[in-house]
Amino acid sequence: MCFRPPELNKLMHKCPACGQFNKPDAKVCKKCGGEMPEDTVDCPECGVPQPISNKVCANCGFNGKPGSGDPAKRKA
Ligand SMILES: [Zn+2]
Ligand SMILES: [Zn+2]
Repeated sequence: MCFRPPELNKLMHKCPACGQFNKPDAKVCKKCGGEMPEDTVDCPECGVPQPISNKVCANCGFNGKPGSGDPAKRKA
């Protein structure tokens, strides 16, 4: 049996080098062997993509609470 959280199966990740679609948890591309970038999510306050493992936005400091990011760095 393989219990995999369903959200892991949502998106296939496209290799930036060759365009091959890989499993979201793949660390390297199955076609070219290139490194797959970590999944990112856009910061809701400044819009800068952050690795999903980030708890705090590296750009504006947003920590999940609305308004916690640096207002000067917020997207217009
Ligand atoms: Zn590739
Ligand atoms: Zn941010």
